[in-house]
Amino acid sequence: MTTQMFRHAVLDINLAALRANYRLLCDRMDGKEVAAAVKANAYGLGAVEITRSLMSEGCKRFFVAGFGEAVALRAGLPDAPIATLHGVPAGAEDEAVRLGITPVLNDLGALTAWRQAAQRFGRFLPAYVHLDTGMNRLGLPAPDIAALIADPALLSGISIRAWISHFACADDPSHPLNTQQRDRFADMLKRLPPAPASLANSSGIFLGRGFQFDIARAGCALYGINPTPAQPNPMQAVATLRAPILEVRRVDSGHSVGYGASHRFATDGRVAVLGLGYADGYRRILGNKGWVVIGGMAAPVIGRISMDLVTVDVTALPKALLAPGTLADVMGPHRTVDQVASEAGTIGYEILTGLGARLVRRYQG
Ligand SMILES: *Cc1c(COP(=O)(O)O)cnc(C)c1O
Repeated sequence: MTTQMFRHAVLDINLAALRANYRLLCDRMDGKEVAAAVKANAYGLGAVEITRSLMSEGCKRFFVAGFGEAVALRAGLPDAPIATLHGVPAGAEDEAVRLGITPVLNDLGALTAWRQAAQRFGRFLPAYVHLDTGMNRLGLPAPDIAALIADPALLSGISIRAWISHFACADDPSHPLNTQQRDRFADMLKRLPPAPASLANSSGIFLGRGFQFDIARAGCALYGINPTPAQPNPMQAVATLRAPILEVRRVDSGHSVGYGASHRFATDGRVAVLGLGYADGYRRILGNKGWVVIGGMAAPVIGRISMDLVTVDVTALPKALLAPGTLADVMGPHRTVDQVASEAGTIGYEILTGLGARLVRRYQG
């Protein structure tokens, strides 16, 4: 793809691929429900657009992290069913009710506050209740779950949308914690009032039927990250990051490129300068490590990543591929988000959520 239009990197978001990923996860769930995690601006891809697109595919629940994210999403989508994984801040219960934002209740204090809100409003209020099964992060710890089992009146006025818990190690199918958490969860459910159960994140879906329960909460797989790291990626790429060639220059043998002179040419070479930088989420650690693809040919990143520029070695590429304005593929079908993450020593989640606000986000499909 060649264009003179863009002077800086663009992020293309393929909504058809997103919806295909959603359908694939529904298939893996044998028709049971798949909810979407759209926290952190839908993993950097745009919460409003992603939520709208998944609603059109039949997705019925959307989880953000904080209350502020929920309020922002509500402003964009008056009808979206929104839940907050972090609950609602104390004192914001009435606002949550008015905005139709459903909390995940993570402790007895939040549960009490929500029960009191139900009393004030004189009607049942929906909520999720998070039961900790071994993550030791959010969720009711064992003694509080025991209290709930002993006194179901603690839930009066609350309509449980689902009991939820969260896997610590679902991306490692051999980890013993998976079955431990599953068994603890199943045991709790037997003793609590009946409601749908939700345990699996993206990777949890792929642990198999015994781990799926009624509702999965998928994030990364929807956005194209491999939920089964030890196996080929069943998901389609959703985000494609491209950066325009701003300039191509010759560098003489013995001369260096960029800050810190961290790459030196041993023979005469050619450098393409791309409109992309760490301010866009292209990690600085990718200096002298990353790769891009230009016209189907791989070119290594050389020198340090600057705030707004990346330099790549195009000595081996035909000049015809290198017209200024040509877009280099930085991430997408040619170089997967998981490859970029592994080059950067991190995970795809961090790469996607780190994509900068400056990137022009274009939606297709
Ligand atoms: C982020 C999150 C998810 C989604 O996880 P993925 O691994 O991205 O599928 C599900 N549940 C909870 C509680 C989360 O925080």
